[in-house]
Amino acid sequence: MAIHMLRRWHILMCNERFILLGEYNSATADYAQIVDQRQRRMGVSSKAEYEHLKYASENARTAAELARIRLEEHVTMHECDS
Ligand SMILES: [Zn+2]
Repeated sequence: MAIHMLRRWHILMCNERFILLGEYNSATADYAQIVDQRQRRMGVSSKAEYEHLKYASENARTAAELARIRLEEHVTMHECDS
């Protein structure tokens, strides 16, 4: 088997990238859900609930951003993109 075929096979099988991508998708979904909840509760939530949802959505946004960075860093270092 030619070297480039082996490399291709390795790329397709990058388990770490698969895991990081799953974490990123999960974090993005969590963030979307909290944003949706926050919008639906807008104007009807108590001050405490509003603050909680605001804090939770900021946390979720940060988590999604960090997951994206981890994924990008891995792909750059490992060159396992496509
Ligand atoms: Zn990789």
